[in-house]
Amino acid sequence: MTVRTRFAPSPTGMLHIGGVRTALFCWLYARRHGGIFILRVEDTDRERSTPEAVQVILDGMAWLGLDADEGPYYQTQRYGRYREVIDRWLAEGKAYHCYCTKDELEQLRNDQLARKEKPRYNGRCRHDAQPRQGITPVVRFANPQEGEVVVDDAVHGRVVFQNSELDDLIILRSDGNPTYNFCVTVDDWDMKITHVIRGDDHLNNTPRQINMLKTLGGELPTYAHLPMILGPDGAKLSKRHGAVSVLQYKEEGYLAEALLNYLARLGWSHGDQEIFTLDEMCKLFDITDVNKSAAAINPDKLSWLNQQHLMRADDARLAGELQWQLAQLEVDTSGGPDLEAVVAAQKERAKTLKDMAASSVFFFREPAWYEEKAAKKNLTPETKPHLERAHEALAGLGDWSAESIHALMQALAEQGGVGLGKIAQPIRVAVSGGSVSPPIDQTLAILGSEQVLKRLERAIAFIGS
Ligand code: GLU
Repeated sequence: MTVRTRFAPSPTGMLHIGGVRTALFCWLYARRHGGIFILRVEDTDRERSTPEAVQVILDGMAWLGLDADEGPYYQTQRYGRYREVIDRWLAEGKAYHCYCTKDELEQLRNDQLARKEKPRYNGRCRHDAQPRQGITPVVRFANPQEGEVVVDDAVHGRVVFQNSELDDLIILRSDGNPTYNFCVTVDDWDMKITHVIRGDDHLNNTPRQINMLKTLGGELPTYAHLPMILGPDGAKLSKRHGAVSVLQYKEEGYLAEALLNYLARLGWSHGDQEIFTLDEMCKLFDITDVNKSAAAINPDKLSWLNQQHLMRADDARLAGELQWQLAQLEVDTSGGPDLEAVVAAQKERAKTLKDMAASSVFFFREPAWYEEKAAKKNLTPETKPHLERAHEALAGLGDWSAESIHALMQALAEQGGVGLGKIAQPIRVAVSGGSVSPPIDQTLAILGSEQVLKRLERAIAFIGS
């Protein structure tokens, strides 16, 4: 049997990390088993679905590398198929027209509540459907009235629902729109889904979907309902906690593999290993290892993982990411220096690519001003002679490499009878505008002699006489 999983987001809100974790688990499970991963956009809620949300889904999945083998399918493009199933069920008596009015249903509900009963449709039109003038009927599924539905959930274990608790679900509204649970069922059936992996807010929909799937005939998929993701304070994840579009993580400078590693570990574990490559996750992931209880997000851990993945990532690849981040800051990198060299100097120091970009701007653009505190301390009449001597020595340096620059700095410190820091720090402020940069020899080597000499001259002039 070929494993077939699907990620089925509704584009009614932005794809956020909760949805991404579901997508990741579906994708990992398919990859682990050499199966097929399907993307299905559940856009039947036409009023609340937006093209922007669809775009975030597509762009987000592309950024994360969660490539679909099939799809994207759109439910709104499958209305003909839904209609076909409804017509067949109507003809076979598996579904029926219901002419009950809104007022009647409201009355029924109130009466049931008054009798302290659980509100549910009483099946009046199932037994005695009378067309009524001026009323376009809905279509209801004739749910079995007895027995139980057993969900053998891969995460939650055995969950039993009584059919007597389920009423006859509306599958087609009077405006001609098929309803959510019905569309999901037909799709899972048509797309031959073998494993339905989704959030556990859908567990209560499952018995209804199982009953409809049984009506379609054939085998049921395996269900795995994933526990919710909570905010760091233990409350349901919301915008306040950063339940924002997944693309914001890209903008904030997180690596896709770090975010995926982080999300995989939310509710899944393999021994006490924390850092996983995507390949390792594909090899090790199993849905039965997913934890039943909800997991809370932990921004510090994401940041730590991002740093770990940055250190391990290939320089050439990070150069592309850094260029993107610098472009967001409107920094033109085409005039050099070499982005890979900048990455090599910065990758162990940055928590995010955004941080890395912010502290790398000076490589590409002469600082417009000096940080006040750094300048006050380092660009002074006392440091001026050091800067002048450094300028002179650097101007005469034949081999502009980090090693030669290092040797030159050391010689200058010895001659001046001061520590290396007394020489390096004023130079650092002069070339970068601030007091933090990679090691000074590496920094100057990357900047190149022309820029370094120019910036030193400017700093010397800034100090004045
Ligand atoms: N469209 C549903 C959602 O976004 C998912 C349904 C499913 O996976 O069955 O929550």
